Amino acid sequence: MKTAIIYSDELKNYDFGPGHPFRGDRFASFFQLYEEKLGKNKNFQLIKNSQPASDKELKLWHTQEYIQVIKAASSGITIPHLYQFISQDNVNPISGKFPQDIERAARIIVRNSILALDFVQEKRSEKAVNIGGGLHHAKSGYGEGFCFYNDVVIVARYAMEKYSLKRILILDTDAHAGNGTCEAFYSDPNVLFIDLHQAGIYPGTGFIDEIGEGRGEGFTINLPLAAATGNKSYQLIFDEIIVPLAREYKPEIVIRYGGSDPHPSDEITQLGLTLEGFKMIGKKVKEISRLCENKSVDLICSGYKPDVLSKAWLSLITGLADVEVELEEPLLETEQGQNLAETKELIKRVKENLKPHWKSMNN
Ligand SMILES: [Zn+2]
Repeated sequence: MKTAIIYSDELKNYDFGPGHPFRGDRFASFFQLYEEKLGKNKNFQLIKNSQPASDKELKLWHTQEYIQVIKAASSGITIPHLYQFISQDNVNPISGKFPQDIERAARIIVRNSILALDFVQEKRSEKAVNIGGGLHHAKSGYGEGFCFYNDVVIVARYAMEKYSLKRILILDTDAHAGNGTCEAFYSDPNVLFIDLHQAGIYPGTGFIDEIGEGRGEGFTINLPLAAATGNKSYQLIFDEIIVPLAREYKPEIVIRYGGSDPHPSDEITQLGLTLEGFKMIGKKVKEISRLCENKSVDLICSGYKPDVLSKAWLSLITGLADVEVELEEPLLETEQGQNLAETKELIKRVKENLKPHWKSMNN
């Protein structure tokens, strides 16, 4: 069955302007490479959407007041106390202006994540990828980390509401902790949230001991990684923690998200994940999705260097779809790293915390 790649021409408007690390031209860069490497490949189908998410869909996570503020600010209206609703990194750093017309693009991204889930649930494809999705830092009433609407939370809630799903595995492989997603499901056992991220950087959350609370205790798994962790460490974490937990949880769907920012040349972080590592992640997600009739939704948007992000995104997708393409590794500007000793220690500590909740963590 073909993998659906969902996108919109309006993604280019998800742009914070010159001087900001998140620019809207990333999508064109990616599709140029996609066309070159996979344009004629029969394993994929491109789906274009230009319909934005409705208020009702946004309200699966966001407050009415917040939605109104973002919509008004995006149309040029001056909002008093704007910074009660967004952080400084969600405006242009040079002009200090709220990015115009970004709200509609943010809504389209949410709709595309919903569309990806519908595709998979309705068996129109086993796997669906939303190019532009994974805006994991957005809280219910606060936008930060370049994120306004959290499509991850919304699509998971939508899956619960529309398809009555009760075991949703969300895997965050973005280099930053998914603070918005974590907050949404912290006491919710219907989501197993597993988050790999670099320790000690923005947003400063995602510690090992944060494992959920109440009925959700044991259903949040944070894996804060040391700088220069490298591919082998990621592989070990999948083999020791993520795959065994997934087998025990028996998800009804897998939602993975995160783009290229763990790549060492992506500049923002130093995790040392190379293209081979991104492909490995795609393959592992494919492996896990066998637990739920091969169903998985993939949301991809992070990354801060056009060349690196295009190749890393494509590597994730080819791993997921089990397709071979040749990609030249972008120049590694920092140590690739093999911080295996620290990773083994991390695995030990995470297992210790999870033992009371998961049989598979007793090995
Ligand atoms: Zn990130």
